[in-house]
Amino acid sequence: MISSEHERRIAARFATFDQDGNGWIDREDFSAAAKALLSEFGTVARSDKGQALYAGAEAFWQGMAGIADRDGDQRITREEFVGGAVKRLHDNPDRFAEIARPFLHATLDLISAPDGRATIPDVVRALTTLGVPTDIAQAAAAALDTDGDGRVGEAEVVPAVARYFTVPD
Ligand code: CA
Ligand code: CA
Ligand code: CA
Repeated sequence: MISSEHERRIAARFATFDQDGNGWIDREDFSAAAKALLSEFGTVARSDKGQALYAGAEAFWQGMAGIADRDGDQRITREEFVGGAVKRLHDNPDRFAEIARPFLHATLDLISAPDGRATIPDVVRALTTLGVPTDIAQAAAAALDTDGDGRVGEAEVVPAVARYFTVPD
């Protein structure tokens, strides 16, 4: 049975991907996310970090489209997201980690100190840049720091993001 809480969570996840809010997820949403992050963190697209972020965003889009764009129109509708992405990713969370990792890696690289680990405020800044409400971003950033050292690294982010998008409720 589908609960309203379940529906609400799916809607929130869809909205995270649908960056421009036009009702479907496509390549533009991923490049918009990359563009917003680069702008917020003062990095130009032609830099190494900028190129890595765009490449990661494109790989993320290709992976999501491969899983969820059933009719091949280069758009993931909410129905395709619920029926394809959420269900299939739930059955295979490792696959989601694999397709999200290059984007997450490049994002951490963009927002982090040279040691590759981001501070909690920088993670909050990245999440709010992607449209996550501040209170949720603060809670999420703190939760990402699973070892409690005040910094967030790839080993903490990738599994947490995969869990968020692949566990249905
Ligand atoms: Ca969109
Ligand atoms: Ca489609
Ligand atoms: Ca940590």
